[in-house]
Amino acid sequence: MSLTAQNHRILLNDGNDIPIIGIGTYSTPRITAKDTCYHAMKVAIDVGYRHFDGAWVYGNEAEIGKAIQEKIADGTVRRDDIYYCGKPGDVIYPQDENGKYLYHPTDLCATWEALEALKDAGLVKSIGVSNFNRRQLELILNKPGLKYKPAVNQVECHPYFTQPKLKEFCDSHGIVIVGYSPLGTCRDPIWVNTKIPALLDDPLLNSVAAKYKKTSAQVALRFQVQRNIVIIPKSFNQERIKQNFEIFDFSLTNEEMKLINALNRNERYVELLMWKDHPEYPFNDEY
Ligand code: NDP
Repeated sequence: MSLTAQNHRILLNDGNDIPIIGIGTYSTPRITAKDTCYHAMKVAIDVGYRHFDGAWVYGNEAEIGKAIQEKIADGTVRRDDIYYCGKPGDVIYPQDENGKYLYHPTDLCATWEALEALKDAGLVKSIGVSNFNRRQLELILNKPGLKYKPAVNQVECHPYFTQPKLKEFCDSHGIVIVGYSPLGTCRDPIWVNTKIPALLDDPLLNSVAAKYKKTSAQVALRFQVQRNIVIIPKSFNQERIKQNFEIFDFSLTNEEMKLINALNRNERYVELLMWKDHPEYPFNDEY
């Protein structure tokens, strides 16, 4: 594979491209000091990241925007080179007086049409979905009058949750998988299933890492790149931001790919159980 630190964009089904590595930006505001994200994003741009995975609910989009703006102003990057993924909403997680989550009644197809309108209006370049299972993807793909297919489906994906069936389905429709939690999350027990062991402690990942003088994190990320899965590792730490980007100077053998693939446990770190009663809760289906 000829992807390099300077040139690692892969094609989307709408003709745009996406850097195969982006930087995740979710960090619980409870423990994240103001401006941590802003400083981390400036480091990330200097290191070479051009893809930023944000969301309104992460509460730090303004910090990302400020970092990008400053790096454009000082000539480090051009706006055209930036791929920014946003996930919008007005009120964060509305609940009733008993703490029960209130869900918006809009159906997925109507929401998709609203995204198509944003693209037609030139407000976004590519549109995609997140946490969609096969049934939900088929709902969109088979929608009468579909204008644009989803370009990506952002779902949990890493060596302990390789998503073989969803990947095959997405591949067959030209939908790129963006794999979130590619390092196995931050293991915050509030939203992570910590019964699953820490991915980066895995003995196989560590032994392969030793062979290449890399870390288990770099091996986990490289594994995904070689499967053509986009990765968005989150780090706000200068050394780790750099380390996670240093995955284009080695490659795993077919045998190593097979062994790592076999680590799949078919279990999610991110189960989103608080929304299990949502009519579109995606994780009851096999994939
Ligand atoms: P990741 O798998 O990216 O892991 C992040 C954790 O790993 C952080 O605690 C980070 O700490 C640490 N870390 C980063 N690099 C290294 C390294 N080289 N060695 C050891 N530890 C490391 O988890 P996320 O769950 O954050 O997923 C990534 C991104 O995916 C999110 O930030 C978000 O943008 C997106 N996401 C989307 C979801 C969705 O529903 N669409 C759900 C979950 C995530 P530190 O910062 O200190 O380096």
